[in-house]
Amino acid sequence: MISAASGTTRTTVMLDCGFGIRETERRLARLGMGPADVTGIVVTHEHQDHVGGVFKFARRHSIPVWLSFGTYQAVRDDCNGVSVHFCRDGDQLAIGGLAFSPYTVPHDAREPLQYVATDGQAKLGVLTDAGQSTPHLVQALSGCNALMLECNHDRQMLADSAYPPSLKRRIGGAYGHLSNQTAAEILAALDQSRLQKIIGAHLSSQNNTAELAHAALCNATGANQAEVIIACQQEGFDWIEIAA
Ligand SMILES: [Zn+2]
Ligand SMILES: [Zn+2]
Repeated sequence: MISAASGTTRTTVMLDCGFGIRETERRLARLGMGPADVTGIVVTHEHQDHVGGVFKFARRHSIPVWLSFGTYQAVRDDCNGVSVHFCRDGDQLAIGGLAFSPYTVPHDAREPLQYVATDGQAKLGVLTDAGQSTPHLVQALSGCNALMLECNHDRQMLADSAYPPSLKRRIGGAYGHLSNQTAAEILAALDQSRLQKIIGAHLSSQNNTAELAHAALCNATGANQAEVIIACQQEGFDWIEIAA
């Protein structure tokens, strides 16, 4: 959830939704919100942990959805009765008082996008599903005030895990998921001059620990020593205030 206020109007945007309606409402309530507070839903890609709950929730509560045309091709059968808008790399989109800049990433989905969101003051960069770094994503995430960065696995834990070899290759591959090590390399490569908070997210419950992810990101923070927070799968994280 990304939320910004200007005057008396507040815009709150949900980024992906992998949960069913009841669990989504429970998680919203924990943040002091209900479905009526959600202005729009922005989708990154069609994998079930990201899109599984989006269209049921959007249909039930008449919430518009933004996604790439490629992602739409993968989910079009679920979109009946939902107001759908297309977005693409390079074209900023506005939802209420928030603007989103989509950027492409290497991941094994049809047309995956990740986003940088801003209320015109502070900038939040999100990167949850990518197999490797690219100059494009480093540029997109540079200069943000806060980052949510995938720390999917520790390379050694993945190698030692009971996962079948094909799954290990997929997760660790160029179109899979970011290891703690690669997330740290991305962080070290980008402009951190305005960075205050880093949220490590999308952790594997099998192949990572919060401690390892935390240590990897802390090692890669620049001179201003941004605060590192690790999101947990069960409870996510509380509202985090970002100043410009
Ligand atoms: Zn994915
Ligand atoms: Zn994912």
